[in-house]
Amino acid sequence: MKTFRPVDIVIVGGGWTGLTMAKELATRTPLKISVLERGGPRKTRDYVDNMDELDYAVRLRMMQPIRDETITFRHTARDRALPIRQYGSFLPGTGVGGSGEHWSGISYRYYPHDFRRLSHLVEKYGRERLPEGCAVCDWPITYAELEPDYDRAERMMGISGKAGNLRGNQIEGGNIFEGPRASEYPTPPMKMPHLAALFRGAASSLGYHPFPLPAATTSVPYTNPDGVARAGCSYCGYCERFGCMIGAKAQPTNTLMPVLARRNNCELRTGAWVRRVVVEGGRVRGVRYTDARGEEIFQPADLVFLASWTLNNTRLLLLSGIGEPYDPETGKGVVGKNLTHQVTIPAATVFLEKPLNGFMGAGSAGVAIGDFDAMDHAATNFSTGGALYTVCYGTRPIANFGFVPPSVTARWGRDWKQAAIHYYDRTGLIRFYGEHLAYRGNYMDLDPVYRDRYGDPLIRMTLDWHDNERNMVRFMTARAEEIGRTMGAVEMRPFQGLKHYEATRYQGTHIQGGTIIGANHTDSVVNMYLQHWRVPNLFLLGASAFPQNPSGNPTLTAVALTFRAADAVVQRYLKNPGELA
Ligand SMILES: Cc1cc2nc3c(=O)[nH]c(=O)nc-3n(C[C@H](O)[C@H](O)[C@H](O)COP(=O)(O)OP(=O)(O)OC[C@H]3O[C@@H](n4cnc5c(N)ncnc54)[C@H](O)[C@@H]3O)c2cc1C
Ligand code: SF4
Repeated sequence: MKTFRPVDIVIVGGGWTGLTMAKELATRTPLKISVLERGGPRKTRDYVDNMDELDYAVRLRMMQPIRDETITFRHTARDRALPIRQYGSFLPGTGVGGSGEHWSGISYRYYPHDFRRLSHLVEKYGRERLPEGCAVCDWPITYAELEPDYDRAERMMGISGKAGNLRGNQIEGGNIFEGPRASEYPTPPMKMPHLAALFRGAASSLGYHPFPLPAATTSVPYTNPDGVARAGCSYCGYCERFGCMIGAKAQPTNTLMPVLARRNNCELRTGAWVRRVVVEGGRVRGVRYTDARGEEIFQPADLVFLASWTLNNTRLLLLSGIGEPYDPETGKGVVGKNLTHQVTIPAATVFLEKPLNGFMGAGSAGVAIGDFDAMDHAATNFSTGGALYTVCYGTRPIANFGFVPPSVTARWGRDWKQAAIHYYDRTGLIRFYGEHLAYRGNYMDLDPVYRDRYGDPLIRMTLDWHDNERNMVRFMTARAEEIGRTMGAVEMRPFQGLKHYEATRYQGTHIQGGTIIGANHTDSVVNMYLQHWRVPNLFLLGASAFPQNPSGNPTLTAVALTFRAADAVVQRYLKNPGELA
């Protein structure tokens, strides 16, 4: 094994969280930083030519190659896990920018109650209403403490939207249920596609409070506080699962890399597959990785950040023997616990009379209602919330062809083709994303059988839905049908209900937990600054820190937490290296 010259800081993973930390440290300190990214290099120019649906959205060109590393999955600890051989319910990214290159850009803040989830549920409904096996916790920080970092994240990305609560004043047209914001969104909401306008009208007439989706697909040309200028969105429709060819969608390559390119204290090493974090005497000494030529390298560093997303942050701790693995039988151990996956369903497929011009769209052009996030659950048989929404990604020739209403009984032949052509641009989705509570039986550990291309054990997910999620989905599907009818749907296909977690149905790449944040080392892996409780020169960035899954999408919160951790490192840790909490 070759040993490289020491650097001050190593960051593992070149996605939103890793490169945000790199930008903060490279611009605020003279320290020498190496970002190690297992995938290849990328830039906006790569998306200008030859980007098509088959290559990117169906064959998943930008995702982690499954032949190199996959995940094993089972529903309960009694089952035998099998490897996922074709991506289904989520799509891990790889390469510079990570999943932040091909994300949709829907950029919610979490609600104030999300940060006090356990206390909130107990205060409102009593401890006896907690679902069986529930393992939710409070975060060790509040919404108010994170608000300035949400603001920084939104300004860095140029998020488009409409405030619904400015310093405590509710504003119609925004999400009136959101927590107080210090300032308006940096850019105005996106244009309203026709389907979204129908949804908004129907939701309003039913007494709900629709608001435009907060969007990283920035609506107008924008220059962020780092001086990085980006174009406004042109609604090309090749957004979710694609990189933006004009740089309108905030992506690490067009938002963070331009800043890092101006610095000479940060290098980005691609093809660097980190396999172990090396700890001696309670401190990280560096990381061991295999480079693109297969050579083993030891990179010494004083400070290490893992930003390799939920699954690999957890896996790297387990592979490196850092911290006690979680045992669902005894409840002991912390690494791997509280695995959650946002509950996402196509609540109702609506078939409409008139064309929607769905070819115009963007990853986060749409409308949502937050009324069910704010609802009272006293009279329901579930305790979680979520949002009904419609997003107009852009109708694609492969993904969107073949939707026919229930009255079309033909499954092939002339009648089916005619109906499929007729409804190609007359079909819309009312979607729902909802909270996923943490349960004691949902967790990650190392698979005892299956290994990756280097012979290291794969991460094993043990995950299933509980009645709380099934009941929530049934309730929300009925609400979606009401909205669909009010939109004037000629026919509808409601979601058929949740049974067991399906590894084959795409839900969203919003997986949380494994290295959770908490108030003490007995229950959690990292403290409120994302610093490892036991190894003070190790930090873990990203949604692996979330103790459960609030309803909204995770990235804005992951980036806001990264800003907060960066402040603690620059202002406190570097002056006096040691425990921050
Ligand atoms: C199709 C799609 C749509 C999405 N839409 C939204 C959305 O609308 N809103 C939202 O909030 N979120 C969305 N997401 C999720 C969002 O992309 C992620 O939450 C976000 O990108 C996570 O950032 P990260 O830095 O934590 O991890 P990543 O972006 O996954 O970056 C981690 C990086 O680490 C690298 N890495 C992993 N293991 C190693 C290793 N061992 N050694 C070296 N490098 C390693 C990976 O290659 C990767 O580049 C979407 C994701 C997908 C796939
Ligand atoms: S829809 Fe807008 S943000 Fe998305 S890829 Fe096209 S131009 Fe970029």
